[in-house]
Amino acid sequence: MRRKLVAGNWKMNGSRAALAELDAIAAAAAAAPGIDVAVAVPFTLITAAAERTPALAIGAEDVHEADSGAHTGCVSAAMVKEAGAGFTIVGHSERRADQHETSHDAWAKAAAAHRQGLNVILCCGETEAERDADRAERVVQAQIEKSVPDNADGSWFTLAYEPRWAIGTGRTPTLEEIASIHAIARSKLKTLIGDRAAGVRILYGGSVTGANAATILATDNVDGALVGGASLTAAKFVPIIEAAASL
Ligand code: PEP
Repeated sequence: MRRKLVAGNWKMNGSRAALAELDAIAAAAAAAPGIDVAVAVPFTLITAAAERTPALAIGAEDVHEADSGAHTGCVSAAMVKEAGAGFTIVGHSERRADQHETSHDAWAKAAAAHRQGLNVILCCGETEAERDADRAERVVQAQIEKSVPDNADGSWFTLAYEPRWAIGTGRTPTLEEIASIHAIARSKLKTLIGDRAAGVRILYGGSVTGANAATILATDNVDGALVGGASLTAAKFVPIIEAAASL
């Protein structure tokens, strides 16, 4: 009932020349009609990416919570939509750490994106200190409670569980740990949005590669992956798409 979604996040990487990678990614996506594939790119590349690979879902990595206004240097949901984005990531842990964004900010950004008709991937996840203190479950539950909009449903809203300590480190939680947090996240969604929770995809993110994708994606309640480093080249991203498609 929930199609797998493999989403890339280029972060502050890429250039017009790097968009050539999207050709093989789009071809792999076309060869995998049973799953969804998306790539979030820097604001400056959205239009060129969307024009180069119109069949591939291209998104933004963030949007401002306001529709417009005096916010120098920021970009609104309406702007990224006009540029060609179909979705945006919000609440990524790098923005929480670098820009001090909160779960409330993620909520406001998700709501702003939805107002403009964008799909949303909202990130949550504990730090290493929080996991070591046995607080991972409570932290993720609190983040979900504060950031998931009341009207969230699977037609536009996706949650991504990304333990911060697993992002870009080559380290991943055990499959049991992933299954446990995803089950808790699903149950928290149910208390917040009721039966609509069953339709919301929950992605795992954090050092997903072609080597570990198949087992992670086969884990209960894992409906796809949010992929950073391994989404930058087709050589690394396509095997993850193929792993998802093979399940
Ligand atoms: C991310 O940026 O969302 C991410 C999961 O990064 P990586 O795959 O590089 O750990």
